[in-house]
Amino acid sequence: MSDAFRTAYGRPAECAWHAPGRINIIGEHTDYNEGFALPAALPLGVTAQVAARDDGMVRASSVQDDDVVTVPIADLAPGSVQGWAGYVVGVVWAFREAGHRVPGLDIVVDGSVPIGSGLSSSAALECAVAGAVDDLFDLGSDPADLIAVARRSENDYVGVPTGALDQSASVLCREAEALFVDFRTMRTRGVPLDLDGAGLRLLVIDTQARHQLVDGEYARRRAECSRAAELLGVPMLRDVDDDELPGALGRLTDPVLQRRVRHIVTEDARVLRTVQVLEGQGDPRAIGAYLYASHVSLRDDFEVSCRELDLAVDTAMDSGAHGARMTGGGFGGSAIALVEDGDTDAVTEAVMDAFDAAGLTAPVVFAMQPARGAHRLEG
Ligand code: ADP
Ligand code: MG
Repeated sequence: MSDAFRTAYGRPAECAWHAPGRINIIGEHTDYNEGFALPAALPLGVTAQVAARDDGMVRASSVQDDDVVTVPIADLAPGSVQGWAGYVVGVVWAFREAGHRVPGLDIVVDGSVPIGSGLSSSAALECAVAGAVDDLFDLGSDPADLIAVARRSENDYVGVPTGALDQSASVLCREAEALFVDFRTMRTRGVPLDLDGAGLRLLVIDTQARHQLVDGEYARRRAECSRAAELLGVPMLRDVDDDELPGALGRLTDPVLQRRVRHIVTEDARVLRTVQVLEGQGDPRAIGAYLYASHVSLRDDFEVSCRELDLAVDTAMDSGAHGARMTGGGFGGSAIALVEDGDTDAVTEAVMDAFDAAGLTAPVVFAMQPARGAHRLEG
């Protein structure tokens, strides 16, 4: 365990949790349509160290930020703490809202997930804090409770209207597996993704692009999806099957809504086919075609890609990737590429060169294997 806690507060931490960021292998913008997704945990995450206080205060600091925030737990209300510390004290608020008594505590967080790159540093932060607070006060939460508390911090305390994908992935993922999530039933299961054993790697390409469109366009996509479902007379776009798609498109007159529906329906189908390949012990290389088809659909039908993401994906494909796609909400952030272990350097170089030639900021590229979800750190 790092010395960060002692450095900040001059006493030892009583317990520490780690929670990872995530990539999404496939299944984008499907969570709020009650569809399917297949995230996997990054080997990068956030560590939260905690120790109890008995004065009703919560104090939070981050190794990545100079601010130290101290507030009475009784005064916490949505939005009452702004900035990064809101995600942290929002978890304490959410535990209190769920009926738990939280006497007071000091928290230090230390993260390695690039912030704002679509790799969900925010969920890693919330889930690490949720696990640590639950553990410290023996609140008896199960994984679903931790996910709910982390989500409430982001959705209701900070006020960012995200779906359940990020927190589910951060809590439930396991090493060498992806996590199949059905957002209607919230049932999940681990799906084998032993890239190491297959001689493969996932390259994560953080494009460094962060376009201002993100929040407004995300809200607009959600509204378009619910409007389309309403026009089609179904509760959610999840309820339109793959083979009903032509009929559904015929009943919509707005070409924008037609494109949105086509993305969601075909994306759900691609997630199911990807899971079928991986669970059938098939060659993981075979999912590459679904990854690229997902990207094309997000680019052309859902219209949430951007120049940097397209360049990363197309360059990776041209230099030997089995598949590549944007991952996360879009309009910047990161792409992933499925590559042979021996090709990681060549693909990385090709992407760096392409960005350089286009006059774009150099991306940050790293290779990964699916890692473990939220857990207590011993010692
Ligand atoms: P993403 O989740 O894609 O990284 P978000 O905008 O959802 O991007 O969340 C990023 C925010 O999470 C940061 O602006 C900051 O408030 C908070 N955050 C993430 N990691 C840390 C950290 N290590 N220390 C403090 N705040 C963090
Ligand atoms: Mg986030």
